[in-house]
Amino acid sequence: MTERLYYQDCYLREFVAHVVETADAGRRIYLDRTAFYPTSGGQPFDLGTLGGVAVSEVIDEDDRIAHLLEAPLGTTTEVACIIDWDRRYDHMQQHTGQHLLSAVLEELFAIRTVSFHLGSEVSTIDVEAPALTADQLERVEDRCAEIIAEARPVQITFEDAARDLELRKASTRTGMLRIVSINNLDRSACGGTHVRTGAEIGMVLTGKLEKIRGITRVEFVCGKRALRRAQSDNRLVASIGRALSVPPEQTPELLLALIEKNKSLEKTGQRLATELARREGQDLYASSVPDANGVRVTTQRGSIDDAMRARAQAFVAGAKSIFLAVCEQPPSLLLAASADSGIHAGERIKAAVTASGGRGGGNQQLGQGSVPDAVALVQAEALLR
Ligand SMILES: [Zn+2]
Repeated sequence: MTERLYYQDCYLREFVAHVVETADAGRRIYLDRTAFYPTSGGQPFDLGTLGGVAVSEVIDEDDRIAHLLEAPLGTTTEVACIIDWDRRYDHMQQHTGQHLLSAVLEELFAIRTVSFHLGSEVSTIDVEAPALTADQLERVEDRCAEIIAEARPVQITFEDAARDLELRKASTRTGMLRIVSINNLDRSACGGTHVRTGAEIGMVLTGKLEKIRGITRVEFVCGKRALRRAQSDNRLVASIGRALSVPPEQTPELLLALIEKNKSLEKTGQRLATELARREGQDLYASSVPDANGVRVTTQRGSIDDAMRARAQAFVAGAKSIFLAVCEQPPSLLLAASADSGIHAGERIKAAVTASGGRGGGNQQLGQGSVPDAVALVQAEALLR
């Protein structure tokens, strides 16, 4: 059985231990005691070194803790162990911050936390609420800040599960429980690592919310992560302000105005493009020469879009006219015909694309169809001639 040194002292970062057993050719190490935290309860494992060899993972095997190494340890019986303190202390800040955040959500709004995940960038809690408002989250952050400023002690005690322990969340375990308490606020059964006082949490900042079947997942950051988040948000807001050449506080209003202006410009652009296409169609009609039957026929290549349709309609607005548009990507065709052209555009296009493995149709004046590929497109175009 591995003695878990972090149960009593979360600030122990260097220790000496005896190797009890090795496996996997010296890469899986069991010690008589360890301060390395194994993945459990939503908190990831510690990194660091065992006898100078880097630890890649720490696994909780109930009675024992396995340390996986990046290289074999060799035949030593006593090892000096060092915890990667930056990583561990960050985990302690996030984890204790989670106790505080969950306790405050319960204190202010009677919202219970059902699970916790400590991620590499942000952490999350899942809470029993279909939604949370921005106002609620601000009140929670404010209350957390008040409690942090009071620097309340965070204590670890071992108590009998059979007693009424007044825990925030009932434990299903029996025997001796490790209880983590924030003075006059929270008592939770927890095996994780925590800071000594609420002050060391620094700050609790909430982030994105995600709704999952009646539960809300709340992102949050504490300690130095909260500082980094605020710094990066500040840089972001400043860069947006610079790009728009206004003070940051004026950016939301300006952005909304720009979005509206852009929509109106897009509409104007579309209207002008259609107008231009219509004139192109008229010019095309005027410049084309009637065939032996007195019919003007033109073939245009390019996308079959609103502009092409406007061009076609303007062309066939003239007497005795047929307009064919051929588009390579996606392989498709458009056929327009004036009422006196002697052809039914919809039926003609349907016959040509159906014979080429495609589908289409339309009315007398306008027909459209698509075919599977370039070969079919050539075939359909030939059939229409
Ligand atoms: Zn905890």
